[in-house]
Amino acid sequence: MWNGIFKVLVIFMVFISFVQSNDKTFKNCNSTLTFDDGPHPETTPILLEQLKEKNVKNAIFFLIGDRIAQYPELVKKIQSYQYDIGYHSMHHTNQAKMTANEIHQDIQEFKNNLNQALESNYDLKYARPPFGGMTQKSVKLFKELETTGKLKQQTLNDEFNTQLIARQVRETYQANGLQTLLWNVDFKDWEQRIDMNHAREQFVPNLKQIWLFHEMPSYKGTIFNNQITEDLPQFLNFLCEQY
Ligand SMILES: [Zn+2]
Repeated sequence: MWNGIFKVLVIFMVFISFVQSNDKTFKNCNSTLTFDDGPHPETTPILLEQLKEKNVKNAIFFLIGDRIAQYPELVKKIQSYQYDIGYHSMHHTNQAKMTANEIHQDIQEFKNNLNQALESNYDLKYARPPFGGMTQKSVKLFKELETTGKLKQQTLNDEFNTQLIARQVRETYQANGLQTLLWNVDFKDWEQRIDMNHAREQFVPNLKQIWLFHEMPSYKGTIFNNQITEDLPQFLNFLCEQY
């Protein structure tokens, strides 16, 4: 009888390890994936499916207010997949050149658009200023952090934001109850395809890294055609294998 129980136990353990090895999901994943500049009908629905398929828990769509008004059904879709929506301004203007009052108005307008699209009051928590809301001086510092490899392991806290983001931008976001979130890794996917070597170089285990992606499949004709929906699956495969 013990022999029989032992056999069942072994079979059960083999089964469990098989299930685990095939369960490449984000269960223990600390990374947050962020998608800027949407929503976009050519990318948002596909991205949502790709994230869901891999069981990605933390993703924020930093939307543009103008586009929310244009595509309310896509905004609803993001919510239905239970991913976060963040503020990325009304018109993608560099807010380092705006006054606190103008920024405050912009946030209010964005909130109105968002609540209208969702037909309910959305608890907006996150904000990312277009172009990082950086001054010319801090753009230099940011590039330095990037090239020296410091950015990828940086904790994105208030101290970090203070070094980089224009004061009126930070303070107005804070006054509106928004947490400002920049990023650890940028693929420059608005001008090139996602490079998996870059992903491997930038990945730091056990850190809550924030990865930046863009939704811009066909903006303005002149700009590079972003192919995020083609590139994201291999990135997700890579990231899921790290856990
Ligand atoms: Zn942007």
